[in-house]
Amino acid sequence: MAEKRDFYEVLGLSKGAGKDEIKKAYRKLAVKFHPDKNPGDTAAEEKFKEATEAYEVLSDEQKRQRYDQFGHAAFGPGSGAGGGAGGFGGVDLEEALRTFMGAFGSGGGGSIFDNFFGGGGREDSNRGSDLRYDLEIDFEEAVFGSRRDLTFNVNVECDTCDGTGAAKGSGVETCSTCQGTGQVVMQQGFFQMRQTCPECQGTGKIIRNPCKDCRGTGQRKGKRQITLRIPPGVETGSRLRVAGKGEGGLQGGTPGDLYVIIHVREHDLFERHDLDLIVDLPVPLTTAILGGEVEVPTLEGHSRIKIPSGTQSGKVLRLKGKGVKDPRGYGNGDLHVRVQVEIPGKVHGKLKKAVEQLEKELDGENQPQRRSFRNQDKKFQEKRQALQDLES
Ligand SMILES: [Zn+2]
Ligand SMILES: [Zn+2]
Repeated sequence: MAEKRDFYEVLGLSKGAGKDEIKKAYRKLAVKFHPDKNPGDTAAEEKFKEATEAYEVLSDEQKRQRYDQFGHAAFGPGSGAGGGAGGFGGVDLEEALRTFMGAFGSGGGGSIFDNFFGGGGREDSNRGSDLRYDLEIDFEEAVFGSRRDLTFNVNVECDTCDGTGAAKGSGVETCSTCQGTGQVVMQQGFFQMRQTCPECQGTGKIIRNPCKDCRGTGQRKGKRQITLRIPPGVETGSRLRVAGKGEGGLQGGTPGDLYVIIHVREHDLFERHDLDLIVDLPVPLTTAILGGEVEVPTLEGHSRIKIPSGTQSGKVLRLKGKGVKDPRGYGNGDLHVRVQVEIPGKVHGKLKKAVEQLEKELDGENQPQRRSFRNQDKKFQEKRQALQDLES
């Protein structure tokens, strides 16, 4: 895990920053890195989450005080203080989006999305459903990034009625029951409750003469084609959000989002653990005994590494920084080279003679593991014998 950045540093503020300054700084970052503006960009998503987490803490008087006093430790595991936000593991995207909406999105329809993203916000009852697309990619694509053309079935706008759901020549009327808001207020005793309008099912519109081709839904079955940019560093389970590429909205509503879930195929050379890579490297028997240099494949090409004399199979040599690049920009993982001493298979003639000679020369001095193993075995057998004698 990379070191967590200072919350003031994240927002580009000094310690004495006022409430308005904090909100302004957060707004600037959040709008810049918002997932709706950076579809499929996990680096931006991380920046968005990081800024949101900083904002959640610094905008809350109590949390800010604790943070000023104890730093990130104030919200460590077991402190019981994080309350989700500012927790040790940071915030997840859903939570970050809620915070963002809570800070700027509310207030009579004029949400930040209208201003910045041209969308209708998230409260749209005609909004199309989100879609999930499971995408299998190669190790190389995950590590270096790539582009993929995706085609998938989706409900799209009906051509006949241009998505309105109303037959040609007839119009769409505003629902008189809810005045087009899609909601009605019900009085129950002292309580007022908002409910979906029963007349228009929340659409705010009434279609007297529905389009025959789509039966008034404004949709038909169709295909969507997109080019997905896969950012470098993704791994199995990474989720790329592509705004507006899910199911089409009903009767002209905004479309849902597409979520692409990444599955990375296993690779023949590299095994991945987060940002670290493991490679099993066959090393000649003689190099393992005498020592020497060998070539290792890396993400940048090749590296030469020293094999010390007397290297055993299973020994791991670390190449610092030669792992996968952190998509959030926090440096690189490492490449772990696991030595696999290769024992020659077919030996005949001169080589066989040489090996037989080697066999004669080997003794306990140059096989210390074998000697120590024998000693431990001897002790075990003695104890076993003694206890069995006792029982008989
Ligand atoms: Zn209505
Ligand atoms: Zn239609």
